[in-house]
Amino acid sequence: MKKQSVYAAVIGGGASGMMCAIRAAERHRDKQIIILEKADRVGKKLLVTGNGRCNLSHVGASAVSYHGEGSDDLINILFKKYSTDTVLSYFHELGLMTHTDSEGRVYPISNQSSSVLDVLRKRMMQLSISEICAVEIRGIQKSASGYEIFTSDSRIYAQKLVIATGGRADHAGRESGSRDILRMLGLNTAPLSPSLSPVKVNDGILRSLKGIRALAEVSLIKNGQIIKSERGEVQFTDGALSGICVFDLSREANKGGCEISVNLLPDMNSDEVRGEIAGRIKREPSAPASEIFIGMFHKNIGLALLKKSGIKPSAICAEISEKEISRLSATISALRFKCETNHDFSRSQVTAGGIRLSEINHETFESKKHKGLYITGEALDIDGDCGGYNLQFAFASGMRAGNSL
Ligand SMILES: Cc1cc2nc3c(=O)[nH]c(=O)nc-3n(C[C@H](O)[C@H](O)[C@H](O)COP(=O)(O)OP(=O)(O)OC[C@H]3O[C@@H](n4cnc5c(N)ncnc54)[C@H](O)[C@@H]3O)c2cc1C
Repeated sequence: MKKQSVYAAVIGGGASGMMCAIRAAERHRDKQIIILEKADRVGKKLLVTGNGRCNLSHVGASAVSYHGEGSDDLINILFKKYSTDTVLSYFHELGLMTHTDSEGRVYPISNQSSSVLDVLRKRMMQLSISEICAVEIRGIQKSASGYEIFTSDSRIYAQKLVIATGGRADHAGRESGSRDILRMLGLNTAPLSPSLSPVKVNDGILRSLKGIRALAEVSLIKNGQIIKSERGEVQFTDGALSGICVFDLSREANKGGCEISVNLLPDMNSDEVRGEIAGRIKREPSAPASEIFIGMFHKNIGLALLKKSGIKPSAICAEISEKEISRLSATISALRFKCETNHDFSRSQVTAGGIRLSEINHETFESKKHKGLYITGEALDIDGDCGGYNLQFAFASGMRAGNSL
């Protein structure tokens, strides 16, 4: 069994772990910092982010875009010093050029996630940070002045230990294995659930809509109240609603017991929608109902709307009653789907839940229970909306902890 003694060991070579190791190594040039990574390479997940483009931050990110108990306080303190501007200027120092889209999402100018990973790995090499990959952590023990980490073939003594193991799913949607580590350290965790994922819905009508996309406003409804609404492109898939606007509702929707309402004409009020439908029916009284939506919606969406409103596609327009017109118009503005509880992490971009924020000092990210232990990134009970917020937090928390080591 190999024995090694280092100043700091970072478990997890993802966004926050790499950033943390870099900042720590910049502060302690003469001390050894190592990264212990389960996968065969560091930064694998980073490569798949933003559809391979890596949406690494969001302009003006603030507490409103983050969730988790105590996240407001943590983000307010963290972003005072480690805001989007701070994270981006550091990346610019590392040589990364970025561009910001009209929604405030920041990407590398190359539009390639590999550019982000490349600048981080180059800096790690300059600072002689060791990467030990394909490692399996078998145990962690606290000692008088640090931590002993046991792997299959080595025993590593570290004065400081960082847990940067991310969320429940890894880059390929498999269980990350970080739960064992949290158990070893006895850290209090909030239950995990998938977030930024498609939302499973129970409705046979979806089968006919599979593969169709529509611009819409989606609202999450719980106990008859609209909790949150988002606009964007909804993707109808087999058994689920997807698309960025749906992802942003998924944190709550995945818990089940709620509905998603899809408004297919969000820029028109109910009178305008009714007027439009009534006008179309009046203009072509002898046409079948299936032709009402020509030039308006995908054919199958039109058929689904008729079905939900109890109108036969073969019904002649002139025979459609006022009541049916009202029902059809209401369905267009609120096509409802019942959400099912979703425990599938494999298609989620982030994990809600994790190590409770009350376990760490919000200034330094050091554990309150275990001196010299730091926790960063998605391993914590904090998750952001879609749009670069999660990587912004991963990098900012990594920087903060690295500067505290
Ligand atoms: C498909 C996809 C696209 C995404 N796109 C975006 C985006 O564009 N913008 C955005 O802001 N966010 C995005 N995210 C979310 C973002 O990637 C994460 O929030 C972020 O990577 C979290 O950083 P982290 O360092 O905390 O964890 P991770 O990046 O997940 O890194 C954790 C690392 O720890 C390792 N690890 C886990 N367990 C162990 C163990 N037991 N021993 C050793 N190592 C271990 C893992 O292998 C991994 O390398 C996306 C996520 C996915 C899945």
